[in-house]
This record gives sequence, structure tokens and C-alpha cells, in this order.
Amino acid sequence: MAYHDVPNKAIFSSHIKYLKSQYNIISIETLRESLLNDDVKLPNYSLLITFDDGYRNVLENGLPVLIKNKVSSCIFIITRYIDTTTNFWWKDVEVNGKVKGESSKEIRQTINKLKKITNIERIAVLNKTPSTEQKQLTSEELRYMKRNKMYVGNHTHNHPMLNNCSDDEIQNELEASKYLFDLWKIEGFEVFAYPNGDRTEKTDEILLKNHIKLAFLFDHSINSTNISSMAISRIKTNADMPLSELKVKASGLHSLISNLTLFRNGSV
Ligand SMILES: [Zn+2]
Repeated sequence: MAYHDVPNKAIFSSHIKYLKSQYNIISIETLRESLLNDDVKLPNYSLLITFDDGYRNVLENGLPVLIKNKVSSCIFIITRYIDTTTNFWWKDVEVNGKVKGESSKEIRQTINKLKKITNIERIAVLNKTPSTEQKQLTSEELRYMKRNKMYVGNHTHNHPMLNNCSDDEIQNELEASKYLFDLWKIEGFEVFAYPNGDRTEKTDEILLKNHIKLAFLFDHSINSTNISSMAISRIKTNADMPLSELKVKASGLHSLISNLTLFRNGSV
């Protein structure tokens, strides 16, 4: 399951209680062992809980629920934001859009456009966007999360879309995040989630060269029994959606219907 932020503790708690009752919630270490070792099989109905980007409310609202339920999870962080008050780049776009009176739809369109242009073009637009402030997670807090069964994985240094990056830009992203993981003495650099899920054959090669061992997609699919360690599927979910919706998503029914609809529309 791929979560982002956790705005509502009570709803998230209902998700975790449900998931715990229906699935075997596993840790990154268990998944890793089974993917890198042919003899180790995952339990039936295995499920891994992940959080992308490193939102502060994962620590504030999510972790207490996970600790209470004795559940493991993984958070994928964007290293440049840790120990800062710099807002995520898409939040800068959002806050500035709101100031200008743009609708949520317009703001979403601007962000989606930024995800499609080259990395150099994206940076040029962001350099012209006034920056906004947000207290981010600290490296000390990451160590606390890790001690409490929340694995800290890698979501690049700046959250670019890797399919829009040159080879050198991808290499620089990985080197910058590796430097900080080492500096903070946190293992986890080699467990990677693609920003926006954008993987290509080229990215696989560079990731492997940099000793990345597991890579997660954002493809809204359930893994088959034969999981590729460099392309692990995840179901998209929101921590504040009603439990009834979560049940449908966790079952795989939602991804099945979405993919069928895409197929019928000729989009895939
Ligand atoms: Zn992300």
C-alpha cells in the first residue's frame, strides 16, 4: 500500500486495524530477504505499508497508530528537505497558486505539467516560484522512526521525475541522497521508491550501478507471486479515505477495474 500524508489519525487507525485483521503486514527486511533469497517465501496475503515523500504528519499521526498496533512500515524520504523548513516543491506551487486565486484543478494541472517537462525546465520554473516554509522531519526523528519499526527508504534528493532526467542528473540525485543517508548513519539508501513511479529501462541500469537493491513503483497494481525486486508494485491509497474505500483498494478490485477501464479506452 502506498500512502503519502496522514491527516487524520482516527481514520488511519481504522485502516491499520482492518489491514492487520485481514493481511500479514510485513517489514522491508522480510520482503528483502524473500526477494533476494529464493528459499525464503513470503506468507500468504502479505502486505507492506509505505509512505512517500516524508510528510511530518506521518510521524505525528501515523507512527503512534503503527506503534500501538505493533505494525512495521516504511517511509521514503526526499533527502534535501530533511532538517530544513523548505516546503516540498509541489507545495510551493500549490501555496503560490492559491495566493493567485487559482482553483485546485488549475493547480493540479500546473503540477502535472511540471512532471512532464525535462528536469532542467522544471527547475527553471521552480526557481521563479517564491519558496514557502514547512517544518520538515529531522534526521533525529528519522532515527526515532527507524527504532520504532518504520524503515527509512530513499525517494531521491530533489524528487525529480527520473524519466525526464539525464543520466548525470540521476547519478547526482543518488550520490546526494547517499551522502546524507551516510552522514545521518541511517541505512536505507538502497531501498528506493521512484518519484511519481516513473521508471524506464535506463533508470534500472543506473539504480543497479548505485547498489539499489529494491525499487518500488506507484502503479496501482498488486504484485504477482513472482515479484521483480527492481519493480515492486504498490496500490495507491489515502490515509483519510473511508474504510469502505480502503477495503476495495486493498482487495485489488479497484486496480483491476481501473486497469480494465484504461484498456477499454485504449489508453494502454
Ligand atoms: Zn513522491
